[in-house]
Amino acid sequence: KLDLAGRIARSLGSNLREERVQAVDSVDLSVMPGEVLGLVGESGCGKSTLGRMLCSILPRSEGKIYYKGQDIDTLKGQDLKEYNMNVQMIFQDPFASLNPRKRVRNIIGEAPLFHKLTSSSELDDYLAKVMLRCGLDPSYTHRYPHQFSGGQRQRIGIARAMAVQPECLVCDESVAALDVSIQAQILNLFMELRNELNLTCLFISHDLGVVEHISDRIAVMYLGRVVEVAPVDEIFSNPFHPYTKALLDEVPRLDRRGVDFTPLKGEIPSPLDPPSGCHFHPRCPHAMDICKKEAPIDIEIAPGRRTCCHLATMP
Ligand code: SF4
Ligand code: MG
Repeated sequence: KLDLAGRIARSLGSNLREERVQAVDSVDLSVMPGEVLGLVGESGCGKSTLGRMLCSILPRSEGKIYYKGQDIDTLKGQDLKEYNMNVQMIFQDPFASLNPRKRVRNIIGEAPLFHKLTSSSELDDYLAKVMLRCGLDPSYTHRYPHQFSGGQRQRIGIARAMAVQPECLVCDESVAALDVSIQAQILNLFMELRNELNLTCLFISHDLGVVEHISDRIAVMYLGRVVEVAPVDEIFSNPFHPYTKALLDEVPRLDRRGVDFTPLKGEIPSPLDPPSGCHFHPRCPHAMDICKKEAPIDIEIAPGRRTCCHLATMP
């Protein structure tokens, strides 16, 4: 079980100024073993920041992450190595995340050699198995990333992660840069790997339509806060939070009769200066006076369903 709790912030640097942005605020989320949690929201809502903090790519200023009950800040030596191996990140842009000067053999093979999952003499066999499993031709180990198509490059990114036999994948917009037909192939590969290996996944996307088929549960984020968590079917058939409803409105579907959808007005506000109270109030069609003054608290509205909205506490 993976637990994220507390308030988490990061620093953003730019040429002009450096300001602290609370990219992730009061997030409390768990991912169960073997579960796929889809994390959705517009760009800038903090979902990538959350994913990167899980993989120790970004530091936290506050808050805790627990992996199998253990606070990851207390891990040292071999335990820390194992955590870093067990939780692997798969990025959005497979081209930017693959070193253009390295051959596929090194890109995929370095980490399993380092972690002693294979030896130099057995590396070819090891690579062949991983590459085949990820839909890559094992005879291409001498090639460079630019010699592959976008979809194949993403398979290389997945093979690099799978080569260390992880338990948990953090996929950040992992199909967003691909054509729709290729997206489906890569999503299918994720589902196969997940089913075969009982992988736990945090699947981050701005697009509810992408996470729908792969997720067991969905967490919706808005400006650094998780506003709704529910099983995937219920997010689609009976969304609670006005922001979830607005996001759903952007997913073209035929089977959503009976749910009142409200289009999203306005731009997402700057995370440097988020609105008071409920961050969503300037865009919310149901905003009340209290919404401007007080941030709603996270409450359980049904077993396994949580939301952050004052409407949930109205009689
Ligand atoms: Fe809308 Fe108020 Fe709920 Fe925020 S708390 S989503 S502004 S109704
Ligand atoms: Mg992002």
